[in-house]
Amino acid sequence: MTEHVLVPAGLQSLRRSSLATLQLNLGRYCNLACTHCHVDASPGRREMMSVEVRERVIEWIRRYRPPTVDLTGGAPELIPGFREIVIAARDVGAVVLDRCNLVVLLEQGQEDLVDFLAEHRVQVVASLPCYLKDNVDRQRGRGVFDGSIEGLQRLNRVGYGRREELGLQLVYNPTGAGLPSDQRELEAAYRERLRDDWGIEFTGLWCLANVPIRRYRGYLERSGGLAPYEALLRDAFNPATLDHLMCRTTLSVDHEGRLFDCDFHLALDRPLGGHAPAPMLWDLDPRTLEGRPVPTGTHCLACTAGSGSSCSGAVV
Ligand code: SF4
Ligand code: SF4
Repeated sequence: MTEHVLVPAGLQSLRRSSLATLQLNLGRYCNLACTHCHVDASPGRREMMSVEVRERVIEWIRRYRPPTVDLTGGAPELIPGFREIVIAARDVGAVVLDRCNLVVLLEQGQEDLVDFLAEHRVQVVASLPCYLKDNVDRQRGRGVFDGSIEGLQRLNRVGYGRREELGLQLVYNPTGAGLPSDQRELEAAYRERLRDDWGIEFTGLWCLANVPIRRYRGYLERSGGLAPYEALLRDAFNPATLDHLMCRTTLSVDHEGRLFDCDFHLALDRPLGGHAPAPMLWDLDPRTLEGRPVPTGTHCLACTAGSGSSCSGAVV
C-alpha cells in the first residue's frame, strides 16, 4: 500500500494559513543526545548557523516582523549568535521562545544565560519528559534529571514560572511508544510533584507525541515497536486537529536558511511545499504563504492522533 493511501483524506489536502511563527533551527549541536531526538542532535554535530545566514535572517525578521520567533536546535543557546537573534526579534516586538533543555543553563560559559533570558523577556520552553529521575535519565542521559531540576530552580529564582511576563512552559513527551496522556491531568500531576519535591513552579505543560522519524524511528525499529506505534497513531486519527496543525501557521528554517513546513520536515529534508531545492528564507515574502499546500505523510499521524500534537502541545 502506498503512503498516500495510508494518510487520511483531510490530511492529504492540508493548506497553509497566514504566518504566525518563524521557527529557527540554529543548528544540530547539542550538549545532550536524547533517544527521542528527531533532529539527531548531539555533542558531535557541528552544523551551526553562520554569521552570513544569521545576518540575512535578522534582516528578514526586521522587514517582515513575524509575531513569534521560536528558537530551537540542537541547543540553540550554544550556537553563536543566539543572543543577537533574540535581541533583534525582541526589538521588532516578537514573542521569542527559547527551546531549552535546562541542563544547558549549567554549562560552563552560560552562567549569565538565565539573566539574559529574563532581561529580554524570552519565554522558556523546557523539555522535561517526566517528573521521575529514572525516566528522564533513560531518555536523555545520566544526570540530566538532576541538572534539569537545578536549571528550573535557577529560572524560578529570577521569576520564571512565577511572573506573568516570564513564561516557563514544560514539555512532556512519552518515554515509550504510546500517546501522550491528557495534557490537563498530566499538568496537575507535574505541578504537584515538582512543587512538593523540589519547590518548583512553572506556567504550563505542553504534551507532545513522538514523531516516528530519525533517531526515534530507529529506536522503534530496534525494539519491534514501529508497526504497533504507527497503527496506534492511525487508529487515533482525529479530524478535529486538522485546522490547528502547526504547519498551517509555522515556517521552519534550518541553519542554512532553507525553508520547511515544520521542524519534522526539516529533519526529513522535505522542503517547503515538497519541492527540492528548498527555497531560502530571504527569497520569501510571507504574505504569499496563505493557501499553499503542505505535503504530508504517515509521520503526520503523530500530529493528528488523539488531542493532536504541535510544538505548543495538544491542539484540541
Ligand atoms: S531532544 Fe533536544 S536536548 Fe535532546 S538531543 Fe535533541 S535537541 Fe538536544
Ligand atoms: S509532521 Fe509537520 S507537516 Fe505533518 S502534520 Fe505535523 S506539523 Fe504538519
